[in-house]
Amino acid sequence: MDWYISALQPGILAKRESLKMNFKERILTVHTEPLYAVGIDALQVNLGYKCNMACKHCHVQSGPHRKEMMGPQNIEEVIRVLKENRIKTLDITGGAPELNSWFRPLVEQAKYIGCHVIARSNLTIFFEDGMEDLFEFYSRNNVEIIASLPWYSKESVDIIRGNGSFLKSIHALQKLNSLGYGQDTRLKKLNLVYNPGGAFLPAVQSALEGEYRIELEKKFAISFDSLYAFTNMPIGRFREFLIRTGKFDNYIKKLKDAFNPETLSGLMCRHTISVGWDGKLYDCDFNQMIGLSLLDGYPRTIKDFDHHLLANRQVAVDDHCHGCTAGHGST
Ligand code: SF4
Repeated sequence: MDWYISALQPGILAKRESLKMNFKERILTVHTEPLYAVGIDALQVNLGYKCNMACKHCHVQSGPHRKEMMGPQNIEEVIRVLKENRIKTLDITGGAPELNSWFRPLVEQAKYIGCHVIARSNLTIFFEDGMEDLFEFYSRNNVEIIASLPWYSKESVDIIRGNGSFLKSIHALQKLNSLGYGQDTRLKKLNLVYNPGGAFLPAVQSALEGEYRIELEKKFAISFDSLYAFTNMPIGRFREFLIRTGKFDNYIKKLKDAFNPETLSGLMCRHTISVGWDGKLYDCDFNQMIGLSLLDGYPRTIKDFDHHLLANRQVAVDDHCHGCTAGHGST
């Protein structure tokens, strides 16, 4: 049968072949060499996996039961590395990074040495006990906020993130707006993150951003700076969902089908490096979650940080990377 298809539609066979390829092989069809980093613009630091929520799409599998937390020694190492290597941006993630008691000292020290600080916030954390002054803390330090809001309706968000999470998120965004966030200023950036609510790829980011802008303004008088549309990575809790519902193979096929070589230049792993709560280094947060270490020959921990080696390292990739190169990209 293949001879018949190849005579009529040569493109079909080429596509079949590309679906069989792993990520490394796919890269070599459009590049002369494997993926390499092109610098370190940001240090992305995971302060721990503990979170006040347990969202269905979470690739970290965070939740209130998680105990992993970065301690003071690694916090000091992070500051040392930022300072010695003049890394411009500190990107703080978790779990809910605010739950780590070293979060605030880390932000303040990074600001003191001139870094731009980004924090990934789930928005509901502002209403937990002990977080009463968190809004003012963010505002005082001009921390850029990247906040998860998987959709602009209560029903969808509460299904993914838990009952009551949508209204808390809305209240948090309104309060941040009142403090000057999301008003298109240089200092108080407020960006939102959209994730698809199932095994499908996000629509075009600019279209989604326009939709969010209209709906949030109309219903809640909320403004924000940008919206990022992220593909759900086939790892962690989302991978378990795909396997449980028999959708895993089909989802991977969708990601491979949507391979877009134009996403390669902007991949997170080529511009940042990820630091785990225990000080281990990874090419990105996703590799950290599946325990995929840096390739042999590169420093393993923040203590052994070597800027030259790491800024030019070859990236460790695997098939989950198809999530970053599908469609318009995801990092
Ligand atoms: S998963 Fe990580 S290593 Fe793979 S392409 Fe995405 S950012 Fe790069």
